[in-house]
Amino acid sequence: MIPRICFAHLPTPVEPMRRLGSFLGGYKLWIKRDDLTGLAFGGNKARKLEFVLAEALANGAKTLVTVGSIQSNHCRQTAALAARFGLRCVLVLSGEKPNQFTGNLLLDELLGAEIIWCSLDERSKVLRATFEHEWEMGHRPFLIPLGASTPTGALGYMYAIEELAQQDVVIPDWIVLASSSAGTQAGMVAEVIRRQLKTKILGISIDQEASHLRQSVAKLAAEAGERLGEKIALSPDDVLVNSDYLGGGYGVMGELEVNAIRLFAKMEGILLGPVYTGRAAGGMIDLIQRGFFHPDENILFWHTGDTPTLFADPYSRQFT
Ligand SMILES: *Cc1c(COP(=O)(O)O)cnc(C)c1O
Repeated sequence: MIPRICFAHLPTPVEPMRRLGSFLGGYKLWIKRDDLTGLAFGGNKARKLEFVLAEALANGAKTLVTVGSIQSNHCRQTAALAARFGLRCVLVLSGEKPNQFTGNLLLDELLGAEIIWCSLDERSKVLRATFEHEWEMGHRPFLIPLGASTPTGALGYMYAIEELAQQDVVIPDWIVLASSSAGTQAGMVAEVIRRQLKTKILGISIDQEASHLRQSVAKLAAEAGERLGEKIALSPDDVLVNSDYLGGGYGVMGELEVNAIRLFAKMEGILLGPVYTGRAAGGMIDLIQRGFFHPDENILFWHTGDTPTLFADPYSRQFT
């Protein structure tokens, strides 16, 4: 057995989205609510962190060091995790320190994380230096890479597919999700192959060219499988990624995201976020409207979180 520390609120609900499905022309839409996994407002990083924390504690960690952009959901959930388990948390964030903290950044601060600011260009260098500094100070740091997308982290999403199968509510033809540092999609893909399920996993790329993301997903899926002693044979060409919705780039909310957020809110009472889930849902809606999916297919949108970002500058101002 792979060590895991169970703290996420699981299983998360799987629900039909009937009103949205009929509004879009009679599609069978479902949602998996990983925005409800706990750890200070939920999100996909909670599942990965269950395995990563076990690894960190086995290594004697007293401090979690991780990295992200200014509104990182991963950093906020890591900060909450550290608080919950009595560890120090140091976050290396790329961006300009604002006068007023909003959204995830406000939560990082409330959760007691120490924040180191840097530019995106310098981020890896500053991360390494921060880790070394923590080590020299005797703080027993454990480094969690971007998005906790390690083979260990990806195990969280292998188990998530098992969870969905056990819930026995729907066997989707498609799972659509926001994909970025590849760990979430890799875990899903690995488990779908392992169980020989018919489900296709479509990653809507948030910030990368499809070819690059396909390679990362294929590599991580194989490595996650290895952690379980399984050989997962897949090539990057087997990985389904759409990178048509990169818009203005990472963290830039445009019309696609705004419309998707408003539609989910008004049709289903479900809140998406500006950076990840708004973009992925916007992509899914566009693909539905273009006839990409067959109306008989069950399409499951995997909600990965991102909701605190709704309350962050500059996004909240763009809605009013
Ligand atoms: C990190 C994140 C993703 C992407 O997951 P990866 O495993 O990095 O691909 C999707 N949605 C939200 C809300 C996230 O925070």
